[in-house]
Amino acid sequence: MESTSNVGELQTVSSVYTRLVEGQRNSAVEARDLIKTHGEGSTAVRALKGISLDFPPGEFAAIMGPSGSGKSTLLHLLGALDQPSSGKVIVGGEDLSGMSDKKLTHLRRERMGFVFQFFNLIPTLSAEENALLPVLISGGKPDVYADRLTELLDLVGLENRRNHRPDELSGGEQQRVAIARALVRNPDIILADEPTGNLDTKTGTGVLELLRTSAARYGQTVVMVTHDPRAAATADRVVFLSDGQMVDEMHDPNADSVFEKIKNLESPG
Ligand code: ADP
Ligand code: MG
Repeated sequence: MESTSNVGELQTVSSVYTRLVEGQRNSAVEARDLIKTHGEGSTAVRALKGISLDFPPGEFAAIMGPSGSGKSTLLHLLGALDQPSSGKVIVGGEDLSGMSDKKLTHLRRERMGFVFQFFNLIPTLSAEENALLPVLISGGKPDVYADRLTELLDLVGLENRRNHRPDELSGGEQQRVAIARALVRNPDIILADEPTGNLDTKTGTGVLELLRTSAARYGQTVVMVTHDPRAAATADRVVFLSDGQMVDEMHDPNADSVFEKIKNLESPG
């Protein structure tokens, strides 16, 4: 038992070290002149109109903007879940344009964790099996992750729900399983679309705290879309989108100024 957890610890230490060394050279994620048009012809929608952004290693960034401003589209491009119409995404110094599907899949599996609104839990698997899915998919040994899994399920308050299936869990509980799943392998980059959207205030605060401490402890970069100025105020930086463009950013934000800004973007004038 003890040797297994030592292996886990060694892997963590070595990947943190790799990240530190890499971090001196590269941003964790970069967007360069991203343009994205959904659809074609008369129904085409230009969702992103030229976005350039750098996310340094270890940054906890929030993305805010009115509905339809392009937040989810941006997150999908950063996560290599969709391709830009032009411009590029660079992850850990590697340009994603022209990468094969196989390489992109590998990169998503190895380096990214996703927390999206639709949790995509597997209905026939228990909470802990769902949370372990990234380990199973990548051919890792579940034993190595046993401590991390327990730690995460404790942190998200699911220690008594480990063996429940998704249909035996509330929406908020399913959301928390998805968060544990995104964090279990300590990915370099965590992309979260409204991770607290379906949670009550207390659980939501807990989830933000979890993202923040995980990011700080493992040097992870978090990019989180949120509507909630209080959630955004816990980030290192808030990036504001409007109509497919980045219109402002705030470092070390506070909830009041974030609230003012987003209010003005949502109902200008
Ligand atoms: P947000 O997450 O900020 O609400 P989205 O990135 O989801 O915004 O959408 C930006 C714009 O692109 C919206 O006008 C939306 O209707 C459009 N859009 C998003 N996805 C698609 C799609 N798959 N097909 C067509 N239009 C889309
Ligand atoms: Mg969205």
